[in-house]
Amino acid sequence: MNVLTTIAQLRQVVLDTKNQHQTIGLVPTMGYLHEGHLTLAQHAKRENDVAIMSIFVNPTQFGPNEDFESYPRDLARDTKLAASVGVDYIFAPAVEEMYPQDGGIRIRAGRQAELLCGASRPGHFDGVLQVVAKLFNLVQPDRAYFGQKDAQQVAIIQTMVRDYNFPIELRVVPVVREEDGLAKSSRNVYLNETERTQAPAIQQALQLAKCELQETQDVKKALALATKLIEDNTDGNIDYLSILSYPDLNEVTVDTEQIVLAAAVYLGKTRLIDNVIFSLKGEMAHV
Ligand code: AMP
Repeated sequence: MNVLTTIAQLRQVVLDTKNQHQTIGLVPTMGYLHEGHLTLAQHAKRENDVAIMSIFVNPTQFGPNEDFESYPRDLARDTKLAASVGVDYIFAPAVEEMYPQDGGIRIRAGRQAELLCGASRPGHFDGVLQVVAKLFNLVQPDRAYFGQKDAQQVAIIQTMVRDYNFPIELRVVPVVREEDGLAKSSRNVYLNETERTQAPAIQQALQLAKCELQETQDVKKALALATKLIEDNTDGNIDYLSILSYPDLNEVTVDTEQIVLAAAVYLGKTRLIDNVIFSLKGEMAHV
């Protein structure tokens, strides 16, 4: 497996691959890989001739008081893990390579970015779209792989692909979890022992709310039960706990087909997110 650090190297690989009429699967990540990322890569490898994983902690999606500087990084470890699941190339550019000049054109996410994570992280999704659009143009993948863990991100990227006609198939992979239900995340390393013990309460609360919704369709009651479970079982602060239609992220009505139940909770300084997506008929919905 090769690690590419410049756009020129990446473009050459893409050109050679296209010349050989081979398909490309792209897995965008910020690195510090875990099983969630590796599952995305396995899908990319299975469904394409060449799998390219980007590893780039993108500064434009972090707010001024967020964890850009301290975000965990370990390219040597990531390289081994990516190779173990058959990734063909890692693209790991420096910030200056991706953003050599300031103040250029920005893409602005629309209404879907005004709530949930977008409300507490202003500008976050504009930064995500900026880097994803650049990666799409650089890699020109046939398919791009994203995790349902970041359900709002998936919904917003789907809208960009539709509105800006990217000729790319988006593939969404279910959330990969620890045995106790905690969604795998690079940020889980920030948790101390107590916080780690409390963290599975987020998923438990979402499951409880899902059952309530399925039984009674009572959004308020479902939210109240989930809030209580988190408050009773953690020292955390709830950033949001929401029930919306998916992927359009509107209020739930009788016509809503798919529902996302999403939460962001601060355990200490660590902000954890999780969600479940389902239809009111009970089966897991396709994203
Ligand atoms: P990140 O490195 O956190 O930006 O994540 C890169 C990609 O991996 C995104 O599409 C995430 O949604 C996905 N991802 C992160 N954690 C998980 C997980 N636990 N299960 C599935 N996909 C994940």
